[in-house]
Amino acid sequence: MDLRFPSGCDIAQHDFADILETIHAEVQLRFGEGRPADYISALATVPLDGFGMALVLRDGQVFEVGQSRRPFTIQSISKVHTLTLALDAVGDDLWERVDREPSGDSFNSLIQLEYEKGIPRNPFMNAGALVVADVVLSNCGDARGRLLEFMRSRSGNADVACDEEVARSEAATGHRNLALAHFIKSYGNLHNPVEDVLDFYYLQCSLSMDCVDLARSVQYLAGNGHCSVSGRDVVSGELATRINALMMTAGTYDAAGDFAFYVGLPAKSGVGGGIVAVVPHVLSLCVWYPGLDDKGNSLLGRYALHRFSRMTGLSVF
Ligand code: GLN
Repeated sequence: MDLRFPSGCDIAQHDFADILETIHAEVQLRFGEGRPADYISALATVPLDGFGMALVLRDGQVFEVGQSRRPFTIQSISKVHTLTLALDAVGDDLWERVDREPSGDSFNSLIQLEYEKGIPRNPFMNAGALVVADVVLSNCGDARGRLLEFMRSRSGNADVACDEEVARSEAATGHRNLALAHFIKSYGNLHNPVEDVLDFYYLQCSLSMDCVDLARSVQYLAGNGHCSVSGRDVVSGELATRINALMMTAGTYDAAGDFAFYVGLPAKSGVGGGIVAVVPHVLSLCVWYPGLDDKGNSLLGRYALHRFSRMTGLSVF
């Protein structure tokens, strides 16, 4: 297998185990920084003293450090997987209902929806993810079953399941998501009942997975559409490229510019503290630290990705 990065960088030169150990030592000095996602009560009390990181090469080899096997709720990272399911089901028709532009606004912003007539800016803001969830519900039969099956086969972990406590807690405090869903519905851009869309959305956000599961779950985006975990072609190479482009421009919300600047890799964050990132054609990775910055991205996760891309030179730029 050709493990060369398109830029000519030979990944065999990297001692990934050593790089991850160095990053782990550095982040430990900063434990306690950031704040957990306290607007979801079940996440408010997570201690800020755990960090995990895992990377998966295209041949399936895993490197990991810290609490890489500790499960957490994947939150908005799931938007990558539901986007994949929706594009698989309806193709480019999705873009009639969701745009592909960076928002510059927070992940749960309502602002653009009114003057853009209920068309969310991109599939990774909550508004866009709700429309994507609606498309999955309408077009994928047993949507819950389909999503679970997708996650389990992509990650190779048959035990992936929903953390019901977190799902209930999100539903109890999800006033903004309820407002977003009703607002989008008022423009006719949700076809299913608001309650059904939110139920499915909270299920996807509350899936409990660890860093190794998650790094594997986006392997197909590092593999030109091919998932080495399941041995399946999940999407075309063209679609993998496009999903990576969306992750680069919108995957970390109003910090996407900073991520391009400091990390230089397509990435998708979640308020559970996880961030997945992809080095196209080379590897996928996931970091976890539950303290968030003011944009809702894992503070030390972002630092770890920055250090990783600097130490390896693996940036798309
Ligand atoms: N479930 C979270 C929410 O809807 C997901 C947000 C996120 O991870 N950025 O607020």
